[in-house]
Parts: sequence; structure tokens; C-alpha cells
Amino acid sequence: MKDIVALCKRRGFIFPASDIYGGLNGFWDYGPLGVELKNNLRDRWWRDMVIAPPLGPDGTPVNIVGLDSSIIQNPKCWEASGHVGGFNDPMVDCRESKKRYRADHVFVLIPKDGEGHAFAFDQDAEDVEIEKRLKKLSRGKSVADFNKEVLDQVPLDMFSNIIGPDVKTAGTLTEPRQFNMMFHTYVGATASEDNKAYLRPETCAGIFLNFKNVVDSSRVKVPFGIAQIGKAFRNEVTPRNFIFRSREFEQMELEWFCAEEDVPMWFDFWVEQRRAFWLSLGLPKSELHFLDVDKADLAHYSSRTIDIEYRFPFAAPGFDELEGIAHRGNYDLTQHQEFSGQKLDYFDQAENKRFLPHVIEPSTGLTRGVLALICQAYTVDENRPSGVYLDFHPSMAPKKAAILPLTAKDKHVPTAQKLYLDLRDEFVVDLDIKQNIGKRYARQDEIGTPYCFTIDNETAEDHSVTVRDRNTMAQERIHLDKVKDFLREKINGRS
Ligand code: ATP
Repeated sequence: MKDIVALCKRRGFIFPASDIYGGLNGFWDYGPLGVELKNNLRDRWWRDMVIAPPLGPDGTPVNIVGLDSSIIQNPKCWEASGHVGGFNDPMVDCRESKKRYRADHVFVLIPKDGEGHAFAFDQDAEDVEIEKRLKKLSRGKSVADFNKEVLDQVPLDMFSNIIGPDVKTAGTLTEPRQFNMMFHTYVGATASEDNKAYLRPETCAGIFLNFKNVVDSSRVKVPFGIAQIGKAFRNEVTPRNFIFRSREFEQMELEWFCAEEDVPMWFDFWVEQRRAFWLSLGLPKSELHFLDVDKADLAHYSSRTIDIEYRFPFAAPGFDELEGIAHRGNYDLTQHQEFSGQKLDYFDQAENKRFLPHVIEPSTGLTRGVLALICQAYTVDENRPSGVYLDFHPSMAPKKAAILPLTAKDKHVPTAQKLYLDLRDEFVVDLDIKQNIGKRYARQDEIGTPYCFTIDNETAEDHSVTVRDRNTMAQERIHLDKVKDFLREKINGRS
């Protein structure tokens, strides 16, 4: 991860927010290349959901419309959704080290025989080597001689016996407490409780609030979907793993409204669609894992959730969540109907009945998806000057091609400029004029540009250019007139 984070900063993908002020934990800025990559993933999701949604089980395209709702909504919305009361993580504080931990991320190793101290390990502390530290503290006892529990399940009377993750004496941890993760602000001139409002912790709420508006104003009929992409904010206790868990991030969420009896069919349908989506962007089957979330771990509104997990480097050899596909029942519409006093049921003219549709929600982190694409693309190759290249799927690459005049001499540059102007109407391309050609290839490798077109002395004679392939480094000559078609075929799969 360290190498990936360094490359992202060095080449302009992702910077710590407020970098010159020392950063702000959990916030990130997307640089010139990061924003292109993020937009590519965002646009592809939008295209696959809203512009060209998939064919349903009956062979006809499903119906999905888009939405862009406000980040701040009436605070009652978050009472109805359960976030004001319940959007909490249990936390523990250490009185000695002054550190705060997520209770459900701290493992406590309790000796099987009940003798001696229990030891707590923080799964969020990236540099702790659990086995090593345990061995030292337990004087040779193995992990097998300990039972493993999560801190928020440990009986309170045991707390005086636990040695916290960053201290040497027992009994410094407080009991778990709730901590609300929503950022709040005040709307209007006075900062009073009456004016308190929240930054949305997920984008889906705006969709439920607009369900009736969309049904009344467009020609959608159940089953149909509403899709939204936008910022979400969570005051995460332990933001970590680069942009994986941040406090400001982006989500891409589809709420698919259907009849209750059709839920199993649509649930399977969306899991397959989402699998196909990630595979088509170059995340290989071997690096994805579909976790049927255990009943005990489901959110209170969900009767089934499948998490699509990716083998992020910090989780390897395990996986961590990239996307969740949840059956949310009709919990949200029921709650908003009750709290708003407005009827939100749907009238089915064909069946002549009213009902609150059920919802299947594929919910993806856009920024977490960006991280998965970068991690997957990162390829070490000692045989090239850069030592590393980003093997992005061509459709995701921030720059599709670079146009490189061999020398900055006059005769190569005008041809390069002409080609650049011609290509940029259709593709995001780079015109890079200065430095020796090897250095320029190395830079394009590191930012994952699939093709470089080099203009040299031969170009003036026979109108051919060299195309260099990022992955194979193989070079071939093609005619200048064929460059656009070449890119169309390679990037979009058409000419
Ligand atoms: P976790 O258990 O990891 O906190 P979650 O299950 O609460 O996540 P959801 O509420 O299901 O996450 O959010 C849907 C998606 O939004 C996640 O799959 C993830 O991709 C993204 N996401 C959630 N929280 C964050 C965050 N703090 N930073 C970046 N992406 C996030």
C-alpha cells in the first residue's frame, strides 16, 4: 500500500486534503489523473444503470431513472431512517494511551484456562503484528490457547483484566460507548438545536424521499429503479487504508423497487449484473469474493445482503467490502411514510392494488472502487525503467493515449499537435513534448496510459507513427490516418 499511496501522490492521482497544512485525517483530494479515473468509473456506472440499463430476465431493458438530491435534507429524514438514533459504532477509550478504538474492531484474546490477563489487539492498527506481540506477552502460549472475542461482546466485568492494544497494564479500557457518525451543521443564522441538520451519511435516503415525486412525474412502473451518485459523509472513528475508509467519500447507489414476491429473482439478477460490471473493468474473478452476510451481521432492515469483496492489499490474503447488495424490504418507504405523514404507496393499475414496494439496493463506494482499480492495476515490472506500470482497463485509464514527438524539434511538433487536436475531440489524450523519449514512456507507464504514438523522422516521409503498447512494450508502425480507428477499437471495442 505504501508504494501505491506514494505513486498516487507522485503522479497526481490522490493527495491528502489540506496537504500544505499537514492534511486532515480521513479526507482526500483527487488530482488531475485521479479525477479522470473517478469520472471514468462514475460515468461507466451511470451508463450501465441509467443510460443503457441491462436487459431484465424477460429480455427487455429494465427501467432506471437518475436523481441528484441534496446533501442536506430535513433532519426528520434521519430520524425516520434510524440514523439519528442508531448510526453508531461502539467505541472504547484507553485512559492511559488516550487512544480511541472501534469496539467491534478490537479482538480480545482470553486465555482458555481463564488464568492471567486477556490481551486486546486493534485490527485498525496497520502495523501491529498480532502473533508476535501475543507471543511476547503470553510468554510462549499460542493463539490456540486463547479464545478470540470482539471487545463489544466481552462481559463488562472482564474489562479490568484486559491489557489494551497500546499499553502494558490491565484495566485502562473504558466500556464500549456509542458514537454517532453523522456530521452535523446548523442551517440559518443561529446555531441552536432547532436548526441542526446533518450531512447525509449515505445517498440512498434522497431516493426514498423522492420516490413519490419520481412516480408522479415520470412514466415509471414497478419494477423500476432510481440511481444516484454523490458525496456521503461519515465521521468514521478510524479512517484508514488510504481512501478505503474516509470521512468524505462518494457512493453510487441504485434503489430497485419491485413487488415482494419478485425479490428473490431480482436479487439474483442484480448480484449477477454487479459481478459482470466489476469483471468487465478488469477486477479478476480470483480477486473478488461474494459474501452472503451472516444473519447475525445484517443491518436491522435487511433480510439478505451480499457483499462484493475485493482482495485489497491491506486485507490480503483476505478480502474487504467493495459493494453491498441489500434487500432492504420496504423499511425505508414505511418509515418515511410514518414520519412524514405522506402516503408513499404505489398504485398498480393492472392489479388495481396499492402497496409499498420492496427494495433491492446495490450500493457501491465510487472512491472505494477507484482504490480497487488502482490496486489491481499496480504492476511491478523490473524490466522497464519506471519499475512499475498501471495496467488499467483501457476504458478506465485516465489518459487513453499520449502523443510524443520524438524530439522537440520543429518538424515533429506540428504533426504531433495536429494529431492531438484531432484525437482530443473523442479521447482524453496527452501531448507530451519535452524530455527524452524513455522518460516520457516511463511516465506514461506509471500513469497507466495504454498507448503512446511517437512522431519521428519517418512520419514526415511516409505518414506513419510508432504505437507503443503499455503492457507488452511492443512497438509497431501504423498510418497517421488509422490512429483514431485504432484507438476506437482498442478503447471502445469498435471502429
Ligand atoms: P463498513 O462496514 O465498512 O463501515 P458499511 O457496510 O457501513 O461499511 P454501507 O453503508 O453498506 O457500508 O455503504 C455502501 C458502500 O459505501 C460500501 O460498500 C463502501 O464501498 C462505501 N463506503 C461506506 N463507508 C465508506 C467510507 N467511510 N469510505 C469510503 N467508502 C465507504
